[in-house]
Amino acid sequence: MIEFQNVEKYYGDFHALKNINLQITKGEVVVVIGPSGSGKSTMLRCMNALEEITTGVLTVNEVDLHSPSTNLNDVRKNLGMVFQHFNLYPHKTVLDNITLAPIKVLKKSREEAVAKAEELLAKVGMLDKKEAFPSQLSGGQQQRIAIARSLAMEPDVMLFDEPTSALDPEMVGEVLEVMKSLAREDGMTMIVVTHEMGFAREVADRVIFMADGQILEDAEAETFYENP
Ligand code: ADP
Ligand code: ADP
Repeated sequence: MIEFQNVEKYYGDFHALKNINLQITKGEVVVVIGPSGSGKSTMLRCMNALEEITTGVLTVNEVDLHSPSTNLNDVRKNLGMVFQHFNLYPHKTVLDNITLAPIKVLKKSREEAVAKAEELLAKVGMLDKKEAFPSQLSGGQQQRIAIARSLAMEPDVMLFDEPTSALDPEMVGEVLEVMKSLAREDGMTMIVVTHEMGFAREVADRVIFMADGQILEDAEAETFYENP
């Protein structure tokens, strides 16, 4: 589903990704860990073409992101991304936050978009807040809405960049529960940058450890914990 072949990424002179080789197949849950500044975010942002790789080959659903014929917007549509900060539209209700892109980009009717949004809100336990504005919600609730908003685009892959790092500790659990259910019940392909080792232990198929722009370890979750 996603393949990096000898990928290098520079920001100017700074070598942010060094010879990345990685294959992620459908249905896998991959957790990426490593110290701050090791290139985890950069790797995720390259996957949905928010950053361009410098050399090597990166394919998503067999589409080469560097090929001139590739429409990056089509690629991005298939990749949902959830960030540390939820970036909801503050002046729109929860329901409007979720239905906006499906109506504009997927050309869904309002009825269809609302029906899907309500289904997703029920899934993340937020249906009773559909008319609320983001400022009326806790950080954990906003992050669950951000996840529902990404899912409304019906992506093949979900990318999570430290989705719980900005939350108060008591709200981390509710967000991780939503992510667990996405992995277990929906079989979603997920790449998750996180420091939550409990989540990794319970849900990950693979754990990737990055340091200094390199993948130092890429192992099945069980193996990883046996050899820390
Ligand atoms: P991580 O997610 O592991 O914390 P990042 O991928 O965010 O790491 O960053 C890796 C390194 O690349 C850091 O040293 C960071 O400062 C640098 N970096 C990230 N984005 C940029 C950018 N747009 N321009 C220059 N340097 C960047
Ligand atoms: P995160 O904590 O999610 O890894 P960062 O704080 O590293 O994020 O980066 C946030 C934003 O700032 C990103 O868009 C990244 O590209 C940019 N950035 C990070 N480091 C640098 C840098 N040294 N120079 C320019 N932009 C940077």
